Amino acid sequence: MHRDTQLIHAGVRFDAQTGEVADSIRLSTTYRHGPAAERLPGGFEYQREGHANTQDLEQALAVAEGGVAAIAFTSGMAAIAAAFAALTGPGKVIVPRDVYNGTRIMAREFLIERGFSLVEADCFNTDATLALLDADTRLLWLETPSNPRLMVSDIAALCERARALGIRTVVDNTFASPVVQQPLKLGADVVMHSLTKYVGGHSDVMGGALVFARQDEFAKRAEHHRHLHGAHLPPFNAWLCLRGLRTLHVRMARHVENAGKVAAFLATHAKVARVHYPGLASHPQHAVAARQMQGFGGMVSFEMASREQALQVASRVKLFINATSLGGVESLIEHRESTELSPPKSPAELLRLSIGLEHADDLIADLEQALR
Ligand SMILES: *Cc1c(COP(=O)(O)O)cnc(C)c1O
Repeated sequence: MHRDTQLIHAGVRFDAQTGEVADSIRLSTTYRHGPAAERLPGGFEYQREGHANTQDLEQALAVAEGGVAAIAFTSGMAAIAAAFAALTGPGKVIVPRDVYNGTRIMAREFLIERGFSLVEADCFNTDATLALLDADTRLLWLETPSNPRLMVSDIAALCERARALGIRTVVDNTFASPVVQQPLKLGADVVMHSLTKYVGGHSDVMGGALVFARQDEFAKRAEHHRHLHGAHLPPFNAWLCLRGLRTLHVRMARHVENAGKVAAFLATHAKVARVHYPGLASHPQHAVAARQMQGFGGMVSFEMASREQALQVASRVKLFINATSLGGVESLIEHRESTELSPPKSPAELLRLSIGLEHADDLIADLEQALR
C-alpha cells in the first residue's frame, strides 16, 4: 500500500466493545495488574511509562518514517534532550552551524557539561563535514532543511561514511516532515521531530519524537531517559498529533505548492536581497534537495537590505501573522533574530515565513503590499 493509505489506518485501536472507528482519548494514569505486578496481556502499568494514545501515535510515526519504533515526548526539545542523554562519551559531537537555536544551546550547555567536545560545522558542505568524521566522533546531528536559512545537507553521503565509522546519525526532520523526506531510508539512524509543527499542523499541540531505524541500546537509553524525566507525551497531545498525522500528506501538498509560488515571487522582487528556498534553482544545494526530498517544504526565508527594512515588512503584513513556530494552517512571519534565545544567531535582515494553507495569491498580495 502507499504510505498515504497506511497513514490513514496506522495505529488505529479497534475497540471490540464499542466498534468505534475514530481513535479515542484514554486518560487513565494507572492500570490494573496482578498481585505481584503481573501485567494484563498488552497492558500498561503507569501513564508516564506508556499508554495507549502514545503507543498508537508511535506506531504511526514509525510507519511515516519507515522506522522500526518511535517514542513520543512532551516537546521537540524533550526529544533532543533524550537523544543527547542517550549518548555514551567521551567523544566529539558535530552539530550544524545553522541549526534550531534550542538545539545549539542545549548542545553547548548539556553536552559540554557531560564531557563531550562540540564542533559546530558547516554540515551543508559535504566534503568539509566528511573531513571532520573520525573514530572519536560519537554523533553527527543534521538538520535539513535548516532553521532559518533552509540550507540542505546530503543525508545519504554523510550517513554512509558515518555508519562505516560507527558514528550515530540523527536528523531533525521537523522542517521537511515525513511526507517530504524520510532520512532513515537515506541511511540515518534516528529521526527527530518537533510534532508541534507540521505533524500537529494546527498550532494547538506540543510534542516531540525520536524514530529509530533499529531497536538498540541507544533507543533503550532514550526511552529510559523519557521515563525518568517524566517527558512522556500525555494522552490528549498524542491524540491530537495522531489526528494531525492522518491528514499530513494532504496538507503538505498545499504547503509545498504555496511555498514554491511565494519563493518564486520573492526571488523576482527588487527590494528582496536574497531568498532561501531549496526549490529555487539558485539555492546552493538545490540538486541535493531535488534528490532527497519529495517537494521542497513549506518554509521560506528571505533577506532585506537591512534590519530596519525587515522589521518594516514584518510590521506591514496584514494576512501573515507575526508569530514564532511553524507548520500550522495559518501563514506566519518572524524576524528570527528578535525571538531567538540569547545569543541569537540569525542574520538581522532575515525574515522567516511559515507558509500556510491560504490561497497563494492572497499570500503574495499581502507580501507585495508590505514590500511596497
Ligand atoms: C520547534 C523546533 C524544535 C523544538 O521543538 P519544540 O516542540 O518547540 O520543543 C526543534 N527543531 C526544529 C527544527 C524546530 O523547528
